[in-house]
Amino acid sequence: MHHYGVRIGEAFTISFFGVRGSTPCDGRDLQRYGGNTSSVLVDAPGHDPIVLDLGTGSRRLGQRLVGEGVERVTCLLSHLHWDHVQGLPFFPMALRPGTRVDIHGPSQDDGRTIGEAFRDMWKEPAFPVTIDDLPAELTFVDHADDQFAIGDVRITTRTVPHIGHTLGYRLDWNGRSLAYVSDHQQPGVDVYEVSDGVRELCTGVDLLIHDAQYTRDEFGPKAAWGHCTVDYAVWVAIECEVGTVALYHHDPTHDDDLLDEIVTRLRAEHGDAVEIVMAAEGTSLVLGG
Ligand SMILES: [Zn+2]
Ligand SMILES: [Zn+2]
Repeated sequence: MHHYGVRIGEAFTISFFGVRGSTPCDGRDLQRYGGNTSSVLVDAPGHDPIVLDLGTGSRRLGQRLVGEGVERVTCLLSHLHWDHVQGLPFFPMALRPGTRVDIHGPSQDDGRTIGEAFRDMWKEPAFPVTIDDLPAELTFVDHADDQFAIGDVRITTRTVPHIGHTLGYRLDWNGRSLAYVSDHQQPGVDVYEVSDGVRELCTGVDLLIHDAQYTRDEFGPKAAWGHCTVDYAVWVAIECEVGTVALYHHDPTHDDDLLDEIVTRLRAEHGDAVEIVMAAEGTSLVLGG
């Protein structure tokens, strides 16, 4: 747990329920950082909770919300790749009648709405339950570059370079700010540039949650797979003058010891310029102060 010296009641609390990219995974060597895929809970006092992505981590996340008696939740989806949506049919908020789940996500390149894309995704023979079978009331909202509000949390969306239309989100609330850029295509091997949209999302935020899929050694053969290096993630954070970067969307082959090694090295190299944390399942960050 990292705290920044402010009462939780006045701060954004960000809780990681899934920090893995690509596919859920497990093993003794992955226990400290966890094997569930992308899902993050954002709590702002006085607000219904906001969920960033519905990967497999959203099963346990939803258990917590149901336990707290939450009746309405907003989900902000970066894109519809499996590792970001696979938890929806197991998301306890979606399985409870009388609950409302508002799902925001990227408009699709082929013109389908995300609701239509979800209906196409969950059907026989891939899965026996359709979106329309889920007992909760689900709503879907498509976005490109956009701005809207959930209560008094201001949300900004921008297209992020990846594979297929992908959004990053910026949340501004009560003087605090958070950017979520889960899957981000680095422009090339050792190329350090960032799109205007991603720059708008990230500039000056307290916390940036960013793709950290590969090491520099791994990146070459996978340079067109939609992701970036840990070094690029930290470069974006420094370039955009963020306070803290949480490295996220860890490759399934990155075990606990390797993730420790990576963060130790990056802190030694860049710790003066930005605070660097390794997102770990079961931990929270509190933004305040
Ligand atoms: Zn992903
Ligand atoms: Zn993806």
